Amino acid sequence: MSFDRVAIIGLGLLGGSIGLAVQDALPGVVTTGYDADAATRTRARERGLCAHIFDSAAEAVRDADLVIFCVPVGAMGAAAGEVAGAIKPGAIVSDVGSSKESVAKALAEALPGATIIPAHPVAGTENSGPDAGFASLFRNRWCIVTPPEGAAPDHVEAVSAFWSALGANVEVMTPQHHDLVLAVTSHLPHLIAYTIVGTASDLEGVTQSEVIKYSAGGFRDFTRIAASDPTMWRDVFLSNKDAVLEMLQRFSEDLTALQRAIRVGDGAQLFDHFTRTRAIRRSIIELGQDDARPDFGRSDHGSAES
Ligand code: NAP
Repeated sequence: MSFDRVAIIGLGLLGGSIGLAVQDALPGVVTTGYDADAATRTRARERGLCAHIFDSAAEAVRDADLVIFCVPVGAMGAAAGEVAGAIKPGAIVSDVGSSKESVAKALAEALPGATIIPAHPVAGTENSGPDAGFASLFRNRWCIVTPPEGAAPDHVEAVSAFWSALGANVEVMTPQHHDLVLAVTSHLPHLIAYTIVGTASDLEGVTQSEVIKYSAGGFRDFTRIAASDPTMWRDVFLSNKDAVLEMLQRFSEDLTALQRAIRVGDGAQLFDHFTRTRAIRRSIIELGQDDARPDFGRSDHGSAES
């Protein structure tokens, strides 16, 4: 099973990148798109994010055999509701939401009887909107496909093959397991970054200009994460609440242990802990998921992501 016509709903970073990547990697596939924001649709047309961009979601999904929702997690249900009745029988519905259990539920409620195979490409930047997308976003990144129980294997295979064609490495897991794993690898780090950057900007006795001037000491890397889209991340925390709270509890316990080691002068505990975490960084580089160059390969003027 393969797709001839792919509809993309939401033309920001993720939707735009999919549109460009499909046109690049699967030139025989027709791309159609829709975004709720008229200015975004205009910009998407200028950038050629999809071959055809429509002024209604129903027109965009008509005749598509794959429909991918690329809107914030909290908007998935409403976006799907707009196309109920317009999706071609037999089409596969998917999404790119950063949390999976709640999104699968929202899509199933809005589109009863539809074939829904959710996915989450673990690829992104801190930028959003129709200018943020680029065709190579998914290359050598993971895409996690989270089919519901009892999904037909050929449907799962079709969505997996689609993501492989865009350059991603595909893994299949349950939505529950996805939400737990991503809570620790993505959601908690974002929460920590939002906290640290907020704490630093609230500090009395340290000026804003000093925070910016000495940011290369580690703070700068948190600011990149903390610049991520507020709507997207508000929705992620609210939709993956249980898993995030569970990971936050564990994190607080580990932080308390390190706090105690510092207070009592337990250098051995600190050293052992930092040695263990350094090994994780090495594994990430060995798996090709980050840049081994000092300072992430940054030049004096730019970042590794440009
Ligand atoms: P984005 O750049 O803000 O794009 C989302 C677009 O969807 C916006 O243009 C938004 O318009 C539009 N939209 C909102 N409600 C809509 C509706 N009902 N119908 C049609 N369009 C609608 O966000 P993004 O970063 O691409 O994120 C999209 C999804 O990908 C989210 O679910 C997120 O969790 C997931 N994701 C993000 C990343 C990342 O790093 N950013 C990575 C992996 C997955 P308005 O701006 O007018 O609201």
